[in-house]
Amino acid sequence: MTNNMQPIFILPEDYQRISGKSALKNNISAAIAVADTVRTTLGPKGMDKMLVDSSGNTIITNDGVAILEEMEIEHPAAKMIVEVARTQEEEVGDGTTTAVIIAGELLKNAQSLLEQNIHPSIIIKGYRIAQAKALETLKMISVEIKEKDTETLEKIGETAITGKGAEIAKEHLSRSAVKAISRVTENGEPDIDNIKICKKHGDSVENSELIEGVVIDKERAHSGMPKKVENARIAMLDLPVEIRDTEIDAKIQITDPEKIQQFLDVEEKMLREMVNKIEKSGANVIFCQKGIDEIAQFFLSQKRFLAVRRVKKSDMEKLSKATGATIVNNLEELSQKSLGHARLVQEKKIGNENFIFVEKCNNPKAVTILIRGATEHVVEEVERAVKDSVGDIASAVKSRRVVGGAGACEIEISKELMGFASTFKGKEQLAIESFAKSLEVVPKTLAENSGFDPIDLLAELKSAHEKSEIWAGISVLDGKITDSWKQGVIEPLKIKTQAVNSATEVAVMILRVDDVIAASKKKQPGAGNPLGEEQQEQ
Ligand code: ADP
Ligand code: MG
Repeated sequence: MTNNMQPIFILPEDYQRISGKSALKNNISAAIAVADTVRTTLGPKGMDKMLVDSSGNTIITNDGVAILEEMEIEHPAAKMIVEVARTQEEEVGDGTTTAVIIAGELLKNAQSLLEQNIHPSIIIKGYRIAQAKALETLKMISVEIKEKDTETLEKIGETAITGKGAEIAKEHLSRSAVKAISRVTENGEPDIDNIKICKKHGDSVENSELIEGVVIDKERAHSGMPKKVENARIAMLDLPVEIRDTEIDAKIQITDPEKIQQFLDVEEKMLREMVNKIEKSGANVIFCQKGIDEIAQFFLSQKRFLAVRRVKKSDMEKLSKATGATIVNNLEELSQKSLGHARLVQEKKIGNENFIFVEKCNNPKAVTILIRGATEHVVEEVERAVKDSVGDIASAVKSRRVVGGAGACEIEISKELMGFASTFKGKEQLAIESFAKSLEVVPKTLAENSGFDPIDLLAELKSAHEKSEIWAGISVLDGKITDSWKQGVIEPLKIKTQAVNSATEVAVMILRVDDVIAASKKKQPGAGNPLGEEQQEQ
């Protein structure tokens, strides 16, 4: 009977729809495909990827989130995996590859449960139970550190850098990162927005340095100004040192030639007064967020000021934090009290560009990490590594809880979960076990990427954990099992909890979908079908 019925179309003709098991399968396959692309980059021996965008720009990176962001992924479920990496990046700043491959593995194992006819809702339930237990276990095995435990913090910073382009200088960079964090930490809360990362190619990575102050890519307003001021007294102005507003194009019509001179004289006088007011405050360096008139620049240079104009707002804020200056928006408010201090302010040329260095500040609340590297690609990869390092150290300072890496903590949780699973019955137990097995992907991939046999190593690793060696992990150099803690492979707890959370979230979200309805895109020549070929049902 139904065969004779007319098909009923409830969607416009050009909509694509896949539902039921094939929707789920399609989504899972896409998500796994994305996870697989970053898999080979995990760990210190992971490979890099070279990405070329549509305008031919190339980046070479080992950073999970950077790779996924550049890939311009189309498939909706695959995009959700990119979201996992992004969340991880925002929350911790590192661990993106880990989060993504765990998500991929959760889905891969869910797929085989689905093939055994286990309903998605049961898998979801099991995964949720396992997630909670995993978090509990992580918390339990994590170790508490002190805020000023510089040695451990440096190890954490190094772990983040290992295997990246910056590896040769990892101790030095990590030390700088730890120091930078300690500058911007108040009441145990690091504010990494106050760490400026300034990069310039043309020198080796080892010459990257921590500046106890702020570096800005600007130059002196006038060539007659001194290049260097010691014991700087810094005025920070959020007002134009100009009479005519250059942002508004006004026209003044003067018909009498004598009036022109008068007009200019008045203008000059007003500028001179402004300069005098600044001088009276006792300042010898000026950072101005707005413009400085040419005549005023000249007056200032005569008075031996070092002035910089049109400084970015974000740089103004950092300068104020580093030097203790108050930003004033009215010259009447400028006084000795509003000045900031730095033992050295100077203009320096790096490569072919001038930078202003505000250095040697006393107890600065904002600092700069100046990143060097031979080429632009190197500098950018070093920047990503340093950002990971800063993120990890900040996270460890904040939560004070850390764990051993190199696959140690994943296997420990996996072991706990396996035991825990046996307290459940039937299909739920299978789902919890699948979750536990999924975590093994981390040490397995670390072994694979280092060129060792993952099966043997995993078996050895598991037996070490059975003997209660909770920090037993993989030594990527010789393919042996070692104590990751003693090796200094230490990571903040948050990397792992966040990875477990976001990987579970996305797996669950994808498992819940049994229908994908997509409007067709405005036709673009060569544009692919977002749901993949052949699988539309309507
Ligand atoms: P992610 O984007 O997840 O941070 P990484 O490429 O930075 O990916 O690799 C992180 C993994 O590498 C973690 O599991 C970490 O424990 C491990 N790892 C880092 N340094 C070492 C090391 N020296 N030996 C073994 N494993 C390491
Ligand atoms: Mg990392």
